[in-house]
Amino acid sequence: MMELDSLYQEVILDHYKHPLNKGLSEEYDVQVHHINPSCGDEITFNLSTEGGIIKSITWDGVGCSISQASVSIASDLLLNKTLEQAGSIAEVFIELMHSKGTKDGDPLVLEDAVALAGVSKFPARIKCALLGWMAFKDAAVRIKQLKEPDTRGSN
Ligand code: ZN
Repeated sequence: MMELDSLYQEVILDHYKHPLNKGLSEEYDVQVHHINPSCGDEITFNLSTEGGIIKSITWDGVGCSISQASVSIASDLLLNKTLEQAGSIAEVFIELMHSKGTKDGDPLVLEDAVALAGVSKFPARIKCALLGWMAFKDAAVRIKQLKEPDTRGSN
């Protein structure tokens, strides 16, 4: 295993062994499937909103501990946020993953996701950590298209 702070490693392993929101809900607004071929990580991600607020995130997947822990963390952190808030948090996380180990991440914003900060030092693993967040971003775009259809040009 790569060298991460041992406390952080524990957070990651805990999410991997006891994932949050794992198991796909039968009802959802949008479902996306994302893969990370370089590692063999794969997830299906269900998202539901109500009045612009994330009401449900469920997922299922297989892959390395980093990828699966990261989806678990995202599914918990983004729940009950507005799509805009969740989108901003995702951007902060993505920036952290591209920081090449120069940033620790703000625990007030990222909570358990700061445990993944050290992954940014390992280019081959960044896609593992980002998989769930990219799935969220994709699902968020689709849900906006579904629920706030662009009406320009309809008049
Ligand atoms: Zn992976």
